[in-house]
Amino acid sequence: MSGRREFLKGLAGGIVTGFPLVASSSALGRASNLAPCDKIDLILPPKPGAAMENIARVFARQVSQRCDAKMTSTGSAPQRVILAIEPSLGSEGFKIIDDSKDGVRIIGNDERGLLYGVGKFLHSSRYDQGGFTPGDWRGTSVPQGSFRAIYAATHFMNFYEAAPAQEVQSYVEDLGLWGANVVIVHFPTWNFEGFDDPAARRNLEQLHCILQAAKAIGLQVGLVQTPTAGFTTAPKEIRAIPVPDDLGRRGHFGVNCCPSNPAGHEYLLNLYTRLFDKFKDIGLDYLVFWPYDEGGCGCTNCWPWGARGYPKLSRDVVQAARARFPAIKSILSTWCYDTPPAGEWEGLAKFLETDKGWLDYIMADSHTDFPHYPLDQGVPGGLPLLNFPEISMWGRSPWGGYGANPLPTRFEGLWKQTQGKLAGGMPYSEGIYEDINEVICLQFYWQKSRAADDILKEYLAFEYSPEVVEQLSEAIGLLERTWIKRGPNSAEAFALLQEVDAKLTPQAKAAWRWRILYLRGLIDSELFRRNDKMEGPVLKGAFDELTRIYHAENAHSMPVQPPQLSSAER
Ligand SMILES: [Zn+2]
Repeated sequence: MSGRREFLKGLAGGIVTGFPLVASSSALGRASNLAPCDKIDLILPPKPGAAMENIARVFARQVSQRCDAKMTSTGSAPQRVILAIEPSLGSEGFKIIDDSKDGVRIIGNDERGLLYGVGKFLHSSRYDQGGFTPGDWRGTSVPQGSFRAIYAATHFMNFYEAAPAQEVQSYVEDLGLWGANVVIVHFPTWNFEGFDDPAARRNLEQLHCILQAAKAIGLQVGLVQTPTAGFTTAPKEIRAIPVPDDLGRRGHFGVNCCPSNPAGHEYLLNLYTRLFDKFKDIGLDYLVFWPYDEGGCGCTNCWPWGARGYPKLSRDVVQAARARFPAIKSILSTWCYDTPPAGEWEGLAKFLETDKGWLDYIMADSHTDFPHYPLDQGVPGGLPLLNFPEISMWGRSPWGGYGANPLPTRFEGLWKQTQGKLAGGMPYSEGIYEDINEVICLQFYWQKSRAADDILKEYLAFEYSPEVVEQLSEAIGLLERTWIKRGPNSAEAFALLQEVDAKLTPQAKAAWRWRILYLRGLIDSELFRRNDKMEGPVLKGAFDELTRIYHAENAHSMPVQPPQLSSAER
């Protein structure tokens, strides 16, 4: 509800949401006439808030990891960047203007708006001309989608669980620069005996670390939970009945509890109340409910789960959350609804006709095409609709095992299916290998009509160099075409990547975002050459490097590390 209000407010205020009011001077808003400088004065207002100070720190980190320019506050540097907050632009919007002949003023409507303005300025600047060349994008931009989340899954010792805190925190900041306004994490009860389980404590510490990084730069945070999932020690007598699962997609981890059983209901409410207490120090802004994956309950009182047991239980859990966090917003996911048809969508619509005060958004998506029901029949409860793009696991496993998986054409096609009807969404991230896909989704939420190709070009110029955008666009097109089946295009893509490799600055060349793209080309090309045989030192070296980049040395249970060569093949 609030998301829709924010969107309408933006339109009513006369701001063309998502579009610059002042056209930039080049297609990418990229500086072409400005000279590179070796020093930047970063000027904050007197008494900046903690978030602004952290955003300034992110600015400085980004510049220093990309070029040799130094940040100062002496007032004598050839380039001045002034940060300010002026609440008149529209929620989370920003404006970049010339301040004087050698200064740029980045103005946020609020703290998050300032972060996105800093992001736009950084993304349109360049770092490959022997210093920092300031971007010349000028104008005002306000996001169209109100919920632009990243779901950072922390399990199986993937990147988010295994990487050092600093690396994960930097990554959260980087996604913030591209427009993310919420970071969501999941506490996997089904992995633990209880809150005192040492593994549960470690997991909670990692979740805190991720959410603190988000809060530090002004982002909102939340949990996604399957409210029927208990701990592994949940009493047998309250366990749920497995749901029908003809397609094998709804999951059943064996620790679900039946909320229609009074003792089961009490157990679940107690568990989630205690979980919310673990986040009292941080404060939760969002609660996302998941119907399946870990399973629901198929008993006669709960089924159809998506229409009966699930919304009822979610409503009760929201109330427990609101007792602790009065402003928390709730999102009901409809993942795997009506697969096969069981009247779940219709039943949910009926449920929300009379009782929707507890809910703010509906989330929908599927393993393949976007579900038809909310597009054709309207969203249950008339609520704003969100998507859940599957950016991590589609097409190949192990996830991330072959390096970067950019799929701009795929995600643009799926985005277009939603007909501009979404208020944002929450890509499912298993690690850093889908970075390009995440950025594309976040920018669709920011400006619904933006083309994937345009987003990709901005990303390539920022991460690598404006000089290699055309070659890399072509290489990524070839890599996407050969994602399902490698072929001669795989070798062609790698040849382009090799050409680009020779042109990059030492910083860009050594950065993980280049290595995972380069290694993807190398691995695919090598596998094509070897008729898909997993053997040889080239592949071993590439897989070992990916493992180091992902911190996947101890990844387990599910495929989140590169494929293994058999000992005979090494
Ligand atoms: Zn039940």
